[in-house]
Amino acid sequence: MKTITCGELVPGCDYKARADTEADVLSKVSEHVRTAHPEIEMTPKMVEKVKSKIHEEPHSSAGQ
Ligand SMILES: [Zn+2]
Repeated sequence: MKTITCGELVPGCDYKARADTEADVLSKVSEHVRTAHPEIEMTPKMVEKVKSKIHEEPHSSAGQ
């Protein structure tokens, strides 16, 4: 499971995205940035920055 906290990119934002793959997290956070932070351009450089903030979260055994 991959997770990202938008606040690591945009201070003050508490949006979090989680998905099974990095690509899915990226697409979720891109969608969020488009709607919540229209001033931020998802340039290749920004995408690299986003990728660097993606964390690996171990699958929890509870509820599976
Ligand atoms: Zn945000």
